[in-house]
Amino acid sequence: SEGGTIQVEPMNNMPVIKDLVTDMAPFWSKIRQIQPWLQTEGPPPTAEYTASPKSMSHLSGVMSCIMCGVCVSDCTVLDIDKTFVGPAALAKAYRFVADPRDAAASQRLNSLNQAGGMWDCTRCMECIQVCPKGVGPMDRIMALRAKGLAEKVPATCGSRHAEVFSDIIKHKGILDEPMLAIRTFGLKNIGRLFGMIPMVLQSVLKGKVPLSGPLHRPISGIHHIQRLFKQVRKKR
Ligand code: SF4
Ligand code: SF4
Repeated sequence: SEGGTIQVEPMNNMPVIKDLVTDMAPFWSKIRQIQPWLQTEGPPPTAEYTASPKSMSHLSGVMSCIMCGVCVSDCTVLDIDKTFVGPAALAKAYRFVADPRDAAASQRLNSLNQAGGMWDCTRCMECIQVCPKGVGPMDRIMALRAKGLAEKVPATCGSRHAEVFSDIIKHKGILDEPMLAIRTFGLKNIGRLFGMIPMVLQSVLKGKVPLSGPLHRPISGIHHIQRLFKQVRKKR
């Protein structure tokens, strides 16, 4: 509400059928896309597939998703890119990737490594704020990325962006944006780099050209940042 007025409107990022009624078909289609069922290997057990409570307890949060679609409605990426699989489907994908009984984690991660998958989230945190069940979809997406990197999924622009971003921060403590783009796309990806020319020109016109390369110096407290990196690595 703004100024005491409550605004009631249909969910965003879904076709409106009438008044407040939206068509959830695109939502379910994205959920189906991640194959939301357990995929095991070997002969089936004589009773149910079991897993220890300890190995499953970390999934209780994500399993409380009620498929309400609110995170999808508020996702800022889906607003501009309908091919993004979205927060609800990615949280559901994590639920199976992290299930010790599932044998398809590698295939799932490779599929989510493609365009429209886990790397397309911009970490705006909207889905975390609006989820009524505390599922934390964005956190699950970050966990999927970490699992993807640990599994050494083939390098894509998404995975390279994450690795280069972290490398630049580790060495400089502050982002070198032109270098991030060049190292993410690669110098051979002329088409993609040319595609950025309008944005670069706009930045020049607005006087917002960040320093890059040797002109981009590390911050004075860089040793604190590097210590943090070392501590995180030790904990892994
Ligand atoms: S954090 Fe990612 S998935 Fe969640 S709303 Fe933002 S862009 Fe969408
Ligand atoms: S908002 Fe939360 S409960 Fe609703 S679909 Fe998204 S993750 Fe599930």
